[in-house]
Amino acid sequence: ECLHMADECIFCKIIDGEIPSAKVYEDDEVYAFLDISQVTKGHTLVIPKQHCQDIYNTHPETAEKLFSRVPKIANAIKQTYAPIGLNVLNNNEEAAGQSVFHLHIHLIPRYGEGDGFG
Ligand code: 5GP
Ligand code: ZN
Repeated sequence: ECLHMADECIFCKIIDGEIPSAKVYEDDEVYAFLDISQVTKGHTLVIPKQHCQDIYNTHPETAEKLFSRVPKIANAIKQTYAPIGLNVLNNNEEAAGQSVFHLHIHLIPRYGEGDGFG
């Protein structure tokens, strides 16, 4: 179930501007910003403005809107940081590495061996 906004959710507070963030992209339904602890330069998170806990609790239409923005944001990252690769990933539940329970897609630019990821 997705809510308009959830109390005590860091990402809802970021969308609201209550917690500052480095905006990468924004429209009516989606927000993208730099990860606070970037695993590589330009590490970006893409989130729905609706609070959905994870992929299991997300309506297909919300998932569709969210993912539909990824090509544009990926191209912006490619332009800005000139990586030689890009990982797109989504963690669901703690065992998979999810630590913020507001659905998000990681865009992780890659710079070759020793770039710090994977
Ligand atoms: P997860 O581990 O849930 O897949 O990813 C959560 C991500 O959110 C982590 O990479 C973490 O660094 C990032 N993060 C957590 N708190 C904040 C914050 O307050 N601001 C920003 N920009 N990123 C955050
Ligand atoms: Zn939230």
